[in-house]
Amino acid sequence: MPLPLIPIAGALVASAATGYLAWKNSRSQNHKKWAKEPFPAEWIEILKKNVVLYEKLPEWLQKELHGHILIFLKEKSFEGCGGLEVTEEMKVTVAGLACIMLLNRESSHYKDLRTILMYPAAYFSDPDKEEVRLGESWVHGTVVLSWSDVTSSANDVRDGKNLVLHEFAHQLDQEDGAGDGVPELETESQYITWAEVLSKEYDTLVKRTNRGNRTLLRAYGATNPAEFFAVATEVFFERPKKMKKKHPELYNELKQFYHLDPANWGHQGWEPD
Ligand SMILES: [Zn+2]
Repeated sequence: MPLPLIPIAGALVASAATGYLAWKNSRSQNHKKWAKEPFPAEWIEILKKNVVLYEKLPEWLQKELHGHILIFLKEKSFEGCGGLEVTEEMKVTVAGLACIMLLNRESSHYKDLRTILMYPAAYFSDPDKEEVRLGESWVHGTVVLSWSDVTSSANDVRDGKNLVLHEFAHQLDQEDGAGDGVPELETESQYITWAEVLSKEYDTLVKRTNRGNRTLLRAYGATNPAEFFAVATEVFFERPKKMKKKHPELYNELKQFYHLDPANWGHQGWEPD
């Protein structure tokens, strides 16, 4: 008697789907539980010291951020590299910055990310090559960061550079399996305007970079569309007013994606004209 291949395949798919749903439900229940745990006062001091953006957030977003940080620190592991001993300050700082991008929207809490590798400073990614790196985002499960660049880039919000925002924007971009500058969007029409606006802005940056012009979005964003999205994210959070003025359509796309409007968080002296 021939084996009932199709029913077996169907049963396997159904059982995998049930398993996935069970995992998703228990993860979401854990998230709800962890987010309600008390947020240590020392962690607030760490955020105030190392994450300048924290104090710009409206109070209700600060509270939401605390919940995301608690979840992040339960789920992700940190490993020191190059002799670095990872401290609580390092973990809270990285989690604080990474979770700003999850605020006020449905998010997967970086579902594929397992491990953050931390080096004390810029590092050689391959001992046989001369290439020095500040950070990396791998498609399945890992982000690599240089601690000295995490703090230096997060302390000066006016420079429009932020290593953690950059690498975690890559994580968001990679969640659909492709690091192509198009993260998962909510509607068909968003994909259409995203493609129109971001390709136009990317082409302009490439042209201006080739001409040697200085721009609000740094030249590294002209490397490819994935780097463009990561660089644009840094500027969206660090120089929002300027971006809204100079690149209103780009600002609007990112505002819709992140469900945040950082140009309205303003405090005097945060962002020069
Ligand atoms: Zn990058």
